[in-house]
Amino acid sequence: MKISTKIVQSGLVTDKTTGAISTPIYQTATFRHPELGCSTGYDYSRSRNPTRKAVEEAIATLEEGHAGFAFASGLAAITAILMLYRPGDHLIITEDCYGGTYRILEQLFTQFGLSATFVDTSDTHQVRQALQPSTKAILLETPTNPLMKIADIRAITSIACANNAQPIHVIVDNTFLSPYLQRPLTLGADIVIHSGSKYLSGHNDVICGLAVACDPALCEKIGFIQNATGAILGPQDSWLLLRGLKTLALRLRQQEENALAIAKWLTAHPNVTKVYYPGLADHPGREIQESQAAGYGGMLSFVVDHPRLPAQVLRKVKILQFAESLGGVESLITFPAVQTHADIPADTRERLGISDCLLRLSVGIEDVDDIIADLAQALEE
Ligand SMILES: *Cc1c(COP(=O)(O)O)cnc(C)c1O
Repeated sequence: MKISTKIVQSGLVTDKTTGAISTPIYQTATFRHPELGCSTGYDYSRSRNPTRKAVEEAIATLEEGHAGFAFASGLAAITAILMLYRPGDHLIITEDCYGGTYRILEQLFTQFGLSATFVDTSDTHQVRQALQPSTKAILLETPTNPLMKIADIRAITSIACANNAQPIHVIVDNTFLSPYLQRPLTLGADIVIHSGSKYLSGHNDVICGLAVACDPALCEKIGFIQNATGAILGPQDSWLLLRGLKTLALRLRQQEENALAIAKWLTAHPNVTKVYYPGLADHPGREIQESQAAGYGGMLSFVVDHPRLPAQVLRKVKILQFAESLGGVESLITFPAVQTHADIPADTRERLGISDCLLRLSVGIEDVDDIIADLAQALEE
C-alpha cells in the first residue's frame, strides 16, 4: 500500500461495535473491569486510551516502526526519549536543532548528569569525532531548523552501528518532513520523534508529540516511561491529530510546490542575498536529500540584505502571518534569532548563520501567487 493511502487509513473504523468511520473520542478517565482479574485491555487513560491508541497505531504504521507513543507536546516526547539515558551518558546533537531541544538538554538534563555535544551533523566526520566512550545516542534533525542542512541518516546509522563499545541509538526528529516524505526507521534509525503540532496535525490547532521505535524492547521502555511520567496526549487532541493527519499527503504536496516557487522567486529578488531550500539545485546535500527522502518539504529560510528589513517585512505582511510554529495550512513567517532560537547563545547563533537578517517561512497551501505578491510588497522599501 502506498503512503498516501496509509495516511488516509489512519484511525479508520477503530470502533468495531458501531463501525464509526471516524475514531470516537473516548473521553473517559477509567474503564469498568468485567470481573476480578479481567480487563478489556483498558484500565485507566494515562496507561491506555482507545482514541490515543488509534493515533499511536497510525504513526507506528506510517513510520514503519513497532509501536508509537503520543505525548502532550513534541517536547514531552523528546523528554520521554531522553529519559532512556542515565547520569554519565553522552549524546551528540545537531547544532542548529530546535531551540527547545537545545534548552532542555543544556538547562534541564545536565542537572540529571546527561552531557551533549552539538555538532554540524551534515558533516559526518564531525559526528564521528564527537564520539565518546559514553556516547549513547545521536539526535538528528534533517533538514535542520532554520538552515535546512541535510544529515546523511544512513551514514550516521552506520557510524552508530560500527561502534563496538555499546549500542548507540540514532534518534531522528522527523518533524520537518513527516513520514510522507522521509521514514528514518527504514534508513536504520532506532527512534523517530515528532512535534505533531506541525505537519502531522497540520492546522495550527493542537500541540502534540509522538515517538516511534522499531525494537520491541526499546518500545517497552518508552511505553514504561510514557505511563510512569504521564505526559500523554488527551483524547480530544488525539482525535484532532488523527483528523488533521488524513490530509497530510495533499497538504505537503501543495506546500512543497509553493515552497519551490517561492524559493526560486526569492533567489532572484534584489534584496535577498541567500535562500535556504533543499529543493534548489545548488543546495548543499541535495543529493543526500534525494537519496533518503521523497521530497524537499515546505520550509525555507532567506537572508535579506539589511538588518532593518526583517522588522519591516514582519510589519507589512498581510497573507503571511507573523507567528511561531510551522507545518500548518496557513503560511507563517518567523524571525528565528529572537523567536525559535532565542535560547541559543548569540555568538553560537551568529556562527551558525542564524543572523539578524534571516527570516523563516513555513509555506502554507494558499495560492502561491498571493504569497509571492505579499512578500513582494513587504520587501518593498
Ligand atoms: C516544534 C518543534 C519541536 C517541539 O514540539 P512542541 O510540540 O512545540 O513541543 C521539536 N522539534 C522540532 C523540529 C520542532 O519544530
